[in-house]
Amino acid sequence: MTDMADIRTPWRATVLTLFPEMFPGPLGVSLAGKALSSGVWSLEARDIREAATDRHRSVDDTPAGGGPGMVLRADVLASAIDAADITPDRPRLLMSPRGRPLTQSRVMELAAGPGPLIVCARFEGVDQRVIEARALEEVSIGDYVLSGGEIAAMAVIDACVRLLPGVMGKLASGAEESFSEGLLEYPQYTRPQEFEGQTIPEVLLSGDHARVAAWRRAEAEALTRARRPDLWRDPLSEQKRPKSPREA
Ligand code: SAH
Repeated sequence: MTDMADIRTPWRATVLTLFPEMFPGPLGVSLAGKALSSGVWSLEARDIREAATDRHRSVDDTPAGGGPGMVLRADVLASAIDAADITPDRPRLLMSPRGRPLTQSRVMELAAGPGPLIVCARFEGVDQRVIEARALEEVSIGDYVLSGGEIAAMAVIDACVRLLPGVMGKLASGAEESFSEGLLEYPQYTRPQEFEGQTIPEVLLSGDHARVAAWRRAEAEALTRARRPDLWRDPLSEQKRPKSPREA
């Protein structure tokens, strides 16, 4: 029998950047890299500069109203987006510190879809008019400023690719990972049994799966409360949190 995943077109990322040579970069190694070479997903890095029309192939200009730095031109970026010729079902993201912070639930949606177009800006950002004219969804990877959108785009793609069917094998369930239930992950241990005088918590060596599960749940809840009270208290994440297998 043919699995749906086999006949689906592979998940695809189209990246618009001034530095296409940065790709696939870290996405070309390990799990993501193997999945890329085996065709589970595909990557197209397009040079925004190819859309420049003037003699100097300029892509940016000084900000209207003055101020430091340069701004990516609306006309150049719009032609670059149009030339990428993506199907309307694909999300169009603009990496931006002003954007909605990326969450695991948005990553899951992106991974379940056909794959996004991602615009990486540089300099002071992009002309506001192209954001509106091409309906770009601004996405941030955190409250700090990078020098360009490429590393942010790689973070988005990496987070999606590891969720694609077949990329992580059995691990892909991700069911007990940080954020998957609105909780941070419990602490992990492996050999040696004793490290610098510290032993592995006894319960993990007990072979009692129910006790292990209960311990992990309690640790995850305690960690989340201590480190991320925002996740813990958020009534939305409480609502969305699925019941643990024992509660179900
Ligand atoms: N002057 C802008 C920052 C520009 S940083 C401002 O204050 O908002 C240059 C580019 O790097 C951005 O346009 C964006 O594409 C990318 N970038 C920087 N920080 C980012 C972040 N936290 N998340 C996503 N993209 C980011």
